[in-house]
Amino acid sequence: MSRTQQAIQEFENTIQEKMRAFEAFLSIPSVSSDPAKKASMLDAANYLKTYFEGIGMDAAAVYPTDLHPVVFAEKRACKPDAKTVLIYGHYDVQPPDPLDAWTTPAFEPNVRGDYLYARGASDMKGQIVSVIFALESVLKTGDLPVNVKFILEGEEEIGSPHFESFVRDNADLLECDIILNPDAGMIDKDHPTIVNGLRGLVYFEVRVDGPKADLHSGLFGGNIANPANELAKIIAQLHNPDGSVAIPGFYDRVRVMSDEERREIARIPSSEEEFLAVTGSPALYGEQGYTILERQGVRPTLDVNGLYSGYIGEGSKTIIPAYAFAKISCRLVPYQQYAEIYDLAEKYIRSLVPPTVKVSFIKHSGGPYYFADDAPGLENLVQAFKDTWQKDVIFKREGGSIPVATVMQEILGVKSILTGVSLPDDAIHSPNEHLHLPTWHKGVQAYIRFLTSFDA
Ligand SMILES: [Zn+2]
Repeated sequence: MSRTQQAIQEFENTIQEKMRAFEAFLSIPSVSSDPAKKASMLDAANYLKTYFEGIGMDAAAVYPTDLHPVVFAEKRACKPDAKTVLIYGHYDVQPPDPLDAWTTPAFEPNVRGDYLYARGASDMKGQIVSVIFALESVLKTGDLPVNVKFILEGEEEIGSPHFESFVRDNADLLECDIILNPDAGMIDKDHPTIVNGLRGLVYFEVRVDGPKADLHSGLFGGNIANPANELAKIIAQLHNPDGSVAIPGFYDRVRVMSDEERREIARIPSSEEEFLAVTGSPALYGEQGYTILERQGVRPTLDVNGLYSGYIGEGSKTIIPAYAFAKISCRLVPYQQYAEIYDLAEKYIRSLVPPTVKVSFIKHSGGPYYFADDAPGLENLVQAFKDTWQKDVIFKREGGSIPVATVMQEILGVKSILTGVSLPDDAIHSPNEHLHLPTWHKGVQAYIRFLTSFDA
């Protein structure tokens, strides 16, 4: 039996006790947003530390931060020149509310059919233990060919407020060649998936001021510019008729997709009907010349996220509103720079404002795009997934963002492999969150293959 097969066999042989350990971890209500659960957060961190000690890690420690602690663990490889894999995870979970919507209580793990139900089963305690169990089985059956480190934070669900400073303060401890982040997921249970790009963001607010107070529209309407009308005209000029963004220079740095990339994206199953069913919208909309998934992951966008002006109470009130404002954000793609896009947007919008009103801007937030089709260790994981699922890996661009990956790239200089074995219908952040156990099982096997792949 091969080295890898021995480790996989070891996992199969011990699955019962591993499930008990997993369920004990899920039973700890580590809700990071709830101040009343502070002790549970520490319990969950200590649970991990104790488990790491039990499987023979060289180091396992709980590091305090200003809020919830970070768990770090490390196991050195059998050879001195081995590469180092850092595994990122978060042990905090979303609040379980609404409680009465759960079939069985959120922190009493329950297996029904192929599914394990509990808060955190999929996002992401199940993802964390899949890698820990893989490592455990590798350690029990022979030498470890790669250094393994874990960084498990307790604040992901509240925006990781102390993650960046922790990574900065502990950059030496976290030094690595490869980063594995299993907090993404699969497109469906038959397709192992790696996310190789995320969109960036720039968010700002435009305020248009007219008269010093709301005016009687009968006395002043027609002579005084209406800020709501003017803002609407401005917004109408932010897009071209073909659905593209009209800000000059907006697309200047956008990376052009290769034909191969477009073919790769086209392999991902998606349908117009599904998109419409999920959203309830009457018809699709979008930039001409691109598919749904290209628009979602590879093309930048601009959207009004909030709009306010004048009287919005019941009935009617005949006024010229004093002001109007819009919250606007752009999803950005490689190689757009968020600070530059903000400047271009502000300049363009200012050029659209008539002298009858005044405009001002509030800059909210910005974050860079992420592009990692060359993350180190990628080939090892691709092969491990292929060997486990007997299917080619799907590479996916995601529309949202994963700030921790950007933070680690900036500070540690290593791009993350974004993956995981959660499924789109796991109900993460919702009642009855669950994990598809057969898929999770395959995930452990794949991570065993990944860890032993560094043998050569
Ligand atoms: Zn997560």
